Amino acid sequence: MKVLVIGNGGREHALAWKCARSPTAEEVLVAPGNAGTETEPGVRNVDISPTDIDALARLALDEGVGLTIVGPEAPLVAGIVDHFSGLGLPCFGPSAAAAQLEGSKAFTKDFLARHGIPTAGYRNFTDLDAALAYIRERGAPIVVKADGLAAGKGVVVAMNVAEAEAAATEMLSGARFGSAGTRIVVEDYLAGEEASFIVVTDGDTVLPLASSQDHKARDEGDTGPNTGGMGAYSPAPVVTPAVESAIVAQVIRPTLAGMRAEGANYTGFLYAGLMILPDGSPKVIEFNCRMGDPETQPILVRLRSDLVGICAATLNGTLARQSLDWDPRAALGVVMTAGGYPGDYARGSVIAGLEHADSDTQKVFHAGTARNGRDVVTAGGRVLCVTGLGESVERAAREAYAAAEKIGWEDVYYRRDIGHRAIARERRVAS
Ligand code: AMP
Repeated sequence: MKVLVIGNGGREHALAWKCARSPTAEEVLVAPGNAGTETEPGVRNVDISPTDIDALARLALDEGVGLTIVGPEAPLVAGIVDHFSGLGLPCFGPSAAAAQLEGSKAFTKDFLARHGIPTAGYRNFTDLDAALAYIRERGAPIVVKADGLAAGKGVVVAMNVAEAEAAATEMLSGARFGSAGTRIVVEDYLAGEEASFIVVTDGDTVLPLASSQDHKARDEGDTGPNTGGMGAYSPAPVVTPAVESAIVAQVIRPTLAGMRAEGANYTGFLYAGLMILPDGSPKVIEFNCRMGDPETQPILVRLRSDLVGICAATLNGTLARQSLDWDPRAALGVVMTAGGYPGDYARGSVIAGLEHADSDTQKVFHAGTARNGRDVVTAGGRVLCVTGLGESVERAAREAYAAAEKIGWEDVYYRRDIGHRAIARERRVAS
């Protein structure tokens, strides 16, 4: 079978790499891919934008693609699954109606409230004066979020009221995030440890992926501006078996039942971004309608099962017969970025050392890269995700950083403390 992966980031490189290792994948196409997918064995890039749904469908029809996996949220929110299904093309992911769980934070908060699913207290606003009055009444810390898609950057965790007021003002005036910010959610601050929990589902059967945790803040100690993600690891030690059971029972199952009851059966990857409170209870921070980037990279290097088989089973109604087999080792990915990201940054810097950085326990996934003649050059803010595997999160980190140190370009930047919370927890348990 031919498989089509849509997207061009590190997540899509990992998806394409994993699919290419499937016994049933004859070839993997990536639209549009990057310099990493271009040289991955069994993978071919096709230069079509992830949001050009008509051109993607034509490609799938022309090539006889048997399975399409959608990496990013934008085509899902725009209805790619509905469009492909209408043409008889198997496409793994939620419909546009189901993808609203990511497409609108206000929709999601109201949905969670309607179905009694645990989340932080909140209110939605389109009117600035009402938002400012609410912020002053609740006090800080408090969290201000743009309603629509803002590439993971539309959230301000304000430690004082002035900061929250400034964020609300900027978002509601449309100066930041354009129309994605014309409605905002203001919610209570939750203190705890974050974890990502992703499942594969056909709307009824739930197959949890290994737990993971990403680091959204740009700088060490989880400080600095929010980014798309600076690194991730799997498993997340905070997700003990008891916490996992609570997440499935209190969050995942009621969410799927609620979506079904509201006429939008949810199929695909469902990603719950959670805050695990000190007593182990989960609260939903957000949903994503696809896998996370960079969580996908460490998760997939641990997955031993055939991803193509799992996605195909989801679409043909046999998911209940599937199970997932995991490498017991931990994996950790370090995102190497262009200096300046998430603000302005340079493109076109030549990347050196890539050929020395892959081994049995190290894998370099490309994100914002492109080929320029014989060189691989930077072509985005997040450039690479260098992933290591080891007996513990600490050892996985050692592998990842040993590989990262072999790679360089002008103004490269990455955090040196990815996994710090999990590593501290491992050390506490060991002593
Ligand atoms: P989101 O885009 O909704 O996932 O938010 C981005 C990041 O902001 C999250 O990963 C958290 O670190 C933080 N965050 C969001 N909501 C809250 C909250 N209610 N309390 C504390 N931190 C939050």
